Amino acid sequence: MHIQDIFKAHATTFSFEFFPPKTPEASEKLFKTIAQLEALRPTFVDVTYGAGGGTRDLTNELVLRIRSETKLDAIPHLTCVCHSEPEIDAVIEQWASKGVSNILALSGDVPREKGDWDRKQDAFRYAADLVRHIVKFNARGRHPDKRGFGIGVAGFPEGHPATPNRLLELDHLKAKVDAGADYIVTQLFFDNHDFYDFRERCDLAGIKVPILAGLMPIASEKGMRRMAELAAGSRFPAALLRSIQRCGGDEEAVKRVGIHWATEQCRALLDHKVRGLHFYTLNQSDATRQIYLNLGIARG
Ligand code: FAD
Repeated sequence: MHIQDIFKAHATTFSFEFFPPKTPEASEKLFKTIAQLEALRPTFVDVTYGAGGGTRDLTNELVLRIRSETKLDAIPHLTCVCHSEPEIDAVIEQWASKGVSNILALSGDVPREKGDWDRKQDAFRYAADLVRHIVKFNARGRHPDKRGFGIGVAGFPEGHPATPNRLLELDHLKAKVDAGADYIVTQLFFDNHDFYDFRERCDLAGIKVPILAGLMPIASEKGMRRMAELAAGSRFPAALLRSIQRCGGDEEAVKRVGIHWATEQCRALLDHKVRGLHFYTLNQSDATRQIYLNLGIARG
């Protein structure tokens, strides 16, 4: 369903993000997770693109498998790093022909194995350029929906490391929306004040599209360190760190703390009329299911 129709039908969206597994075993495991999470009736699910490099075709495979084996509406991500224009066109042509309704358009980061890849080689340098290209594709009328693809983009409540100038960063976000993005999904954050402030700053900048809050419950201390690496710039509030320290290395206790913290974040976000909750599931179902139960919104 086109994202504009999704927003018309749902005052609050609930979405889950998966990454494409690299082995058949991991894929079967993911489909068990997806079956468990489908019972929660998410509004849609996302599939990441080439995160960590080398998994680009797998995104396509996973999106098509979700579409054929479940009732879930799958939104693929697309990054422009290390892609030529014909390559991008081949991907979006294929998704259009399969009736994929929406794309989350991203710049992406240079994968580690590409070393010092010069981004001048990319057909599209910034996500805004990719949004403009998808809008052009939409105008050609080659998508079964006459509006073409719905388009999402990323937002960073705590700022993006490449743009320390926070005013300029908001200009860049606005450029993506002005180019034709229908909605924003945020990077994960642990302090809701960062999200509320971001939402207000967007409003002041004239960014009026729905903003979905990205959440990732901490599952382990090791996982938290990895998160800090991947979502560079993320702030881990002292109160959260203290709660984790009190667990004294007990991994089950850390998991419970992570779920409790994320539940409280979600509860407050819902009270503050968030337009959507977007869960980075890491292909696991436990934490998301537990949060749903804690919130009293479990529908399965
Ligand atoms: P952009 O909007 O292009 O911004 C990147 C940086 O460039 C920002 O600092 C911005 O301020 C700056 N900038 C923008 N325009 C200009 C300009 N005209 N001049 C100068 N500077 C400019 N990565 C993946 O590889 N695969 C995924 O599936 C994926 N999914 C993600 C989903 C979400 C919700 C989020 C938040 C991130 C995701 N990422 C993914 C990571 C993302 O690709 C990186 O964080 C990347 O560094 C930023 O992408 P972007 O689309 O926001 O880039």
